[in-house]
Amino acid sequence: MKIGVLALQGDFREHIHKLRQLGVETAEVRLPDDLVGLDGLILPGGESTTMGKLAAAFDLLEPLRAFSREHPVWGTCAGMILLAREALHQKRGGQPLIGVLDIVVDRNYFGRQVDSFEIDLPVPALANLTSPGDPEGSFHAVFIRAPAVVAVGPNVEVLATLPDGTIVAVRQGHLLATAFHPELSNDLRFHRYFLAMAAGAALGGADRVTTAAGGNGHRVAVPT
Ligand code: GLN
Repeated sequence: MKIGVLALQGDFREHIHKLRQLGVETAEVRLPDDLVGLDGLILPGGESTTMGKLAAAFDLLEPLRAFSREHPVWGTCAGMILLAREALHQKRGGQPLIGVLDIVVDRNYFGRQVDSFEIDLPVPALANLTSPGDPEGSFHAVFIRAPAVVAVGPNVEVLATLPDGTIVAVRQGHLLATAFHPELSNDLRFHRYFLAMAAGAALGGADRVTTAAGGNGHRVAVPT
């Protein structure tokens, strides 16, 4: 299995390090041809406006959209923003989005309260990957000027929320997004979870198909 990491800007090296720890072949993606032959793609944390503009400058936006419609893609933090169909509080002048994931994110949701924080989050989807001492699938999540998900479409499954209900991890079929940075935690389970998605897709499994796991009461209003 070969997984690409968008390497225009941000903490792509940390993702590559995690993937190598898991014995996966990796590729840095900077140009459209770099997407050829990949089984999945990670969009790292960093600065989403910069990444989006660089992707547009390198003629990578349409290839990224086409790839994301067909293949497993995981966005962390800025990568989550890039995947979203809509981002609130963009910088003046706007920002290009890949736009394939049916969520609305607020780019600077935590900005005015606290820029960065860490918290142990219950993530039931990780339960199968969890060690016996940690049966809840709790994950130590690092948030750095993080976005939050403020609205989800009917096919989006909520994987994790903060104690106040704020949505911070979602999945829509073959697309995964986390507002925090598993590449910065000393924990490989989110990467293993994504690799399992990619392996399922490579086998032509149901993981590629948007499931009906959404519609679970997590739909929230978009603030105006
Ligand atoms: N808030 C940043 C953005 O808009 C994302 C921060 C991050 O990736 N750590 O891109």
